[in-house]
Amino acid sequence: MPTSQQLFERASLSIAGGVNSPVRAFRAVGGTPVFFSRAHGPFLYDAEGREYIDYVGSWGPMIAGHANPDVLDAVRAAISHGLSFGAPTAIETDMAERVRELFPSMERLRFCSSGTEATMSAIRLARGFTGRDTIVKFEGCYHGHSDSLLVKAGSGALTFGVPSSPGVPADLAKHTLNLPFNDLQAAEQLFQTHGEQLACVIIEPITGNMNMVLPEPGFLEGLRALCDRAGVVLIFDEVMTGFRVAPGGAQGLYGIQPDLTCLGKIIGGGMPVGAFGGRQAIMDQLAPLGPVYQAGTLSGNPVAMAAGIATLTVLSRPGFFDQLSATTTAFVEGILEAARDAGIPMAGVSQGGMFGLFFHPGPVRCLTDVMAANEAHFKAFFHGMLAEGVYLAPSLYEAGFVSSTHGPAELERTFNAARKVLATLS
Ligand SMILES: *Cc1c(COP(=O)(O)O)cnc(C)c1O
Repeated sequence: MPTSQQLFERASLSIAGGVNSPVRAFRAVGGTPVFFSRAHGPFLYDAEGREYIDYVGSWGPMIAGHANPDVLDAVRAAISHGLSFGAPTAIETDMAERVRELFPSMERLRFCSSGTEATMSAIRLARGFTGRDTIVKFEGCYHGHSDSLLVKAGSGALTFGVPSSPGVPADLAKHTLNLPFNDLQAAEQLFQTHGEQLACVIIEPITGNMNMVLPEPGFLEGLRALCDRAGVVLIFDEVMTGFRVAPGGAQGLYGIQPDLTCLGKIIGGGMPVGAFGGRQAIMDQLAPLGPVYQAGTLSGNPVAMAAGIATLTVLSRPGFFDQLSATTTAFVEGILEAARDAGIPMAGVSQGGMFGLFFHPGPVRCLTDVMAANEAHFKAFFHGMLAEGVYLAPSLYEAGFVSSTHGPAELERTFNAARKVLATLS
């Protein structure tokens, strides 16, 4: 059987960098990425048949566990009717109705095939609706890899954004402004000078791409009020938090209605699905009703819709989230206890089936705090846990995920591994 090392070397001869998405390459932690061949429940199995307890869950979608029987049955049934029609199907409406039940702020919505497409389309729509070009995002939030969103803060307060990747035109990047997360005062200042020029504010209401950071009380409410006053579209990017921190996402949890919402990851249950939607007056600007163009050959694909509906059905069952939250809380508490016993400063946070762990004494409230974490400890912990059969996200900027199939036995194995590995760090 080929090893991951051999598979990676072969992949690197045909696939750019050997991977189809950069974080998979393990560059942030060093070493060779593990190649997986199958997965079941809370477990991943690598190319050589080794078992790992999985805390990545395909970056979120596998909330009901890998190879969930209900999801697989739904996909098998859908496949037998054909893979794609490029024309409307009733299952798209079934799915839209299911999403709207959980996200009532999405009066109208549209499906696409990835989170990147959802955020890119939501931003175009916000610009088209308001007739304004400037958008605001927050440092450390990730919204996919479209040009307007691969922008970092320029030097100096309130300067225009600069590209964070070659290939993004500076002329475009200057329309994106960055603010520090959890800093309502900075947002108020920006709105005072630029409020009337802003098309939208886009935010991960709970972040997952600078690891997991919760909004402080009043922060999201403050943004909502600022946007209302200046006629700015508030976009919640819930690609990660949707169906994950609570069935109705962060907006359900905090009771705040954004104007537009972006979804991805869990919504496809492991198939490529994204969605964006919100107030009808804004969504009616989209073609064919309105002038703002957006489209997709495989959007609303019936097989992907079937996987999504089955996943949303499983996670809507009574008790699903209570159990998931309890498991995730126990996971974070167990790791923090092991760290305390080993004398390693760590902070942790969780909500629903999502968690953040930091080699940092806390509190962690913005990107600056996340960047102050002990990177050497993180790398050693990651590789130590991997060797013990526990698969964590290979970057300290990623949140982690628990599924409904993780139980006491998996937690026990994880804590034993953590105690062993943390002892080697002190
Ligand atoms: C993953 C993610 C995206 C991008 O989704 P893709 O499906 O990878 O394009 C956008 N926003 C957030 C918050 C994400 O976590």
